[in-house]
Amino acid sequence: MQLTHIEHLGIAVKSLEESIPYYEKMLGLKCYSIEEVKDQKVKTAFFKIGQTKIELLESTDPEGTIAKFIEKRGEGIHHIAFATPSVTECLDELSQKGVQLIDKAPRKGAEGLNIAFLHPKSTHGVLTEVCENPNEK
Ligand code: ZN
Repeated sequence: MQLTHIEHLGIAVKSLEESIPYYEKMLGLKCYSIEEVKDQKVKTAFFKIGQTKIELLESTDPEGTIAKFIEKRGEGIHHIAFATPSVTECLDELSQKGVQLIDKAPRKGAEGLNIAFLHPKSTHGVLTEVCENPNEK
């Protein structure tokens, strides 16, 4: 199993429309993509900083995980995502080592990445995603 870099940080926000101007006007980053991921009941906005992206997440459903997260903890960092050449390999190895998985197999995330989440119970409180870019193969 190999993790190569931090692919992105996921940040839960109440509103993309209200938070994008902060990243653009205050931090000088450029939002290069807005995408709805129906599966996960979110709308995402992406910024790039070096090799790493910032993924803003707005809930499209009051019952969605992002809506619930904000209700409990307010806006803020939601998850960290590590890039790997093989999500399947990561999941196999981590489950063998006793790490609890949310996704037992890779699924499709934003930007066409194959993604899977590890359970925060096993990661010292950090919701952790591993993702692989099938276009980089
Ligand atoms: Zn993510």
